[in-house]
Amino acid sequence: MDLVAYVPTAPRRGETVMGREFHTVPGGKGANQAIAAAKAGAYTSMIGAVGTDEFAAQIRKVLTASGVDVAGLRAIPGRSGTAHIVVDDEGGNSIVVVPAANNAMETFNDSDEELVADCGSLLLQLETPLPGVAAAAAAGRRNGVKVVLTPAPAAPLPADLLANVDLLVPNEHEAAVLTGNADPDQALEELLRKVPEVVITLGARGCLYGNRDGAQVRVPSHRVDAVDSTAAGDTFVGVLSAVLGEGASMPDAMRLASAGAALSVQRPGASSSMPTRAEIVRFVD
Ligand code: ATP
Repeated sequence: MDLVAYVPTAPRRGETVMGREFHTVPGGKGANQAIAAAKAGAYTSMIGAVGTDEFAAQIRKVLTASGVDVAGLRAIPGRSGTAHIVVDDEGGNSIVVVPAANNAMETFNDSDEELVADCGSLLLQLETPLPGVAAAAAAGRRNGVKVVLTPAPAAPLPADLLANVDLLVPNEHEAAVLTGNADPDQALEELLRKVPEVVITLGARGCLYGNRDGAQVRVPSHRVDAVDSTAAGDTFVGVLSAVLGEGASMPDAMRLASAGAALSVQRPGASSSMPTRAEIVRFVD
């Protein structure tokens, strides 16, 4: 559950600022990416966990209403995961994530694997424990499914996970953390030593793709008035995976993902800001 406060300027350590508005909306990278993919037109199943608190029903309801199949959601006694988000007047954000029920996602069972086997692409992120993510990636590889990983929040990635990732999609900060190199072009080269394909997102500067055959694609961002960049990356990768799962080329998928993310930054909120396929196609035309 995202707990979102809108403020003129984010507080520094020890500072208290007055917020303008507050709301709760289901979120988390996994849920946001699933909603982005479903709204972009993909049949989407989410494997994950909610708690048994007051947030759980709202999370299931919003996922279902967005078209996400929640048969793979476990209910873990206790709190659902929460993200405490501060959005400032420039559309920037800072976020604290408390995983709670998501910490139960350490294992991957047979029914999870059945869901994965049915998919065109498997989209993973790191707000759940690494052993579960690595097990999911292995299941994706076993079933011939394209495995896409957003390495967020940024963390060192174990070799057994990387070995089963087809496409890594970090933002530039995550790419720098993973490689120790702040230059996106150099970081891309280094990441390609670990995985076959990489897309680095560069915020308002667009995105950059490379693969081990030496192909490179750059897609600039659309010039828009950003009001809230929360979940721009989740929208981007959700749309990207949805479209790649349909068999689109990487340049086409990047263009639709950029359009989807550009639409999302013009609206407040995370999952609520994500566009439908029809909106994305209209925007690109
Ligand atoms: P967040 O953490 O805010 O969800 P992120 O840091 O993971 O986002 P970014 O690299 O900031 O991801 O943005 C992802 C994509 O969203 C970019 O590649 C771009 O296509 C689009 N985007 C982000 N910010 C803007 C913007 N201000 N204007 C237009 N497009 C944007």
